Amino acid sequence: MGIPAVRSGRPSLDGRPDTPFLLDRFGRVARDLRVSITEKCSLRCTYCMPEEGLPAIPKDELLTVAEIVRLVSLAVRELGVQEVRFTGGEPLMRRDLEQIIAGCHEQVPDTPLAMTTNGVGLEHRARALAAAGLHRVNVSLDTVDRAGFAKLTRRDRLDSALAGIRAARDAGLAPVKVNAVLMRETLSGAADLLQWCLDEQCALRFIEEMPLDADHEWARANMVTAAELLDVLGTRFELTAAGRADPSAPAETWLVDGAPGPVGITASAPRKFGDPCARTRLTADGMLRSCLFSDQEYDLRQALRAGADDAELATLWRGAMWNKWAGHGIDAAGFVPPERTMGAIGG
Ligand code: SAM
Ligand code: SF4
Repeated sequence: MGIPAVRSGRPSLDGRPDTPFLLDRFGRVARDLRVSITEKCSLRCTYCMPEEGLPAIPKDELLTVAEIVRLVSLAVRELGVQEVRFTGGEPLMRRDLEQIIAGCHEQVPDTPLAMTTNGVGLEHRARALAAAGLHRVNVSLDTVDRAGFAKLTRRDRLDSALAGIRAARDAGLAPVKVNAVLMRETLSGAADLLQWCLDEQCALRFIEEMPLDADHEWARANMVTAAELLDVLGTRFELTAAGRADPSAPAETWLVDGAPGPVGITASAPRKFGDPCARTRLTADGMLRSCLFSDQEYDLRQALRAGADDAELATLWRGAMWNKWAGHGIDAAGFVPPERTMGAIGG
């Protein structure tokens, strides 16, 4: 992970209508905030992290509990954010995660707080997190085959991940959603994974692999298509297309033998110019990003620590989103992946 190429000071607000919301030039309004809280992780998934992990963020550059709570509160109260999701790296690597959740819940009690996690260690913290105010978790799990899991994540922690999912469900962090990256290596185990999710009452969503791996080995030609996945699942399950439940969410869903848990397949990112993308992102070191694939960042941490008041921070945030690109361009010739990998941005 390098430092992103463009780190701008003050984004231009030229032409922006007077609205408190996070509007961009293409009429999209970001309502969903992703907050990465660490670059550290208990796993080393090959599509995400280098074997040695990401370079450590110096402690004094990491947002503190109080800073995260202030920014989340600002986003909800002043900027129209309606859902907040904590991610990383692995959010469970922060020992003060419960404090972050409790602080945010106290400030914005009506806003759903969610977390994306690999589930390792969640077994021991699910209850405390639920008590602190966490509403939901998405757990990333690509396979229920122990050897396959160890190979893909470079760690033999499948049992802990599965225990984490069960504990989350039992703690009421429901519905637990399982996210799996769609890969050739795990395709043959996709039906077992689906069966496990059905047995454990989890919804399963497959996500296309994106060009955000640390080793830069992603190639569109290697990607597994939705049709291939449906073929594999179709050998064991009867799938019925359910269409898009929410047009702003980039997932196609199928119902499985009439079971309650749907299976979703999500393209890596909205594909077409003008597709809705309703997210705004904050990195663990306090940089604002308007898109996963952008190399443009705005330094909210510096402004915050220089004493900016809420109105100034809100203006900076609105400006960052106003300058959001039309699309990510991953299908375009000459596409250059951002310098930050998925683990450093927060998926
Ligand atoms: N460690 C947590 C986890 O794994 O859920 C949160 C951070 S992780 C970066 C968030 C999500 O990004 C996970 O669901 C992971 O599978 C996904 N992800 C990571 N690298 C990816 C890639 N190259 N393409 C698609 N999804 C990716
Ligand atoms: Fe860690 Fe999540 Fe990246 Fe896997 S996907 S290496 S669990 S941050």
